[in-house]
Amino acid sequence: MALIAIEGMHFFACHGFYEEEQITGNNFQVDVYLETSTTAAASSDELEKTINYETVYLICEAVMKKKVNLLETLAETISQRIKYQFKSLSGLKVRVTKFNPPLGGKVDKVWVESSETFTRKCARCNKPMLCYKDDTCWCKATMQLKKTSEQLRMNFGKKCLCKECLQFYMGKEVSEEN
Ligand SMILES: [Zn+2]
Ligand SMILES: [Zn+2]
Repeated sequence: MALIAIEGMHFFACHGFYEEEQITGNNFQVDVYLETSTTAAASSDELEKTINYETVYLICEAVMKKKVNLLETLAETISQRIKYQFKSLSGLKVRVTKFNPPLGGKVDKVWVESSETFTRKCARCNKPMLCYKDDTCWCKATMQLKKTSEQLRMNFGKKCLCKECLQFYMGKEVSEEN
């Protein structure tokens, strides 16, 4: 497992709950921590290729440009976008800091951190796998896989299932979906 950090990305923006902040703006910092797992990903080589620091920065920049009220929204949005961009993360942490918030006295900073882990075990074969709690995993899948899907729901409910196990049950149906 490796931890990749992109720390201290600075932005000037007008996010804030108070009107004065929305007009005068403030200094913000974004820190992103990407956890990668070689056991769950296909190979470490592939991992190297998929994590692009510049892409991470561009995602943060784009999100920070769009005015919102809360730091929570910023951290969540950045986290969501990074998660969908890099499909090999085992964990992700995003911290958004606002400097000198207007709280009536001298306050250096406030920050909000959003943190998620994606490593799960397949309900059928117990193999470590990644689940992003979205359409790409059985646990949240809305994919319409006919015949076998009812049987699978009965056996495993909404627990995560790895691609191999899904393929084992559904054969061609899965490969055609992708
Ligand atoms: Zn499995
Ligand atoms: Zn899942």
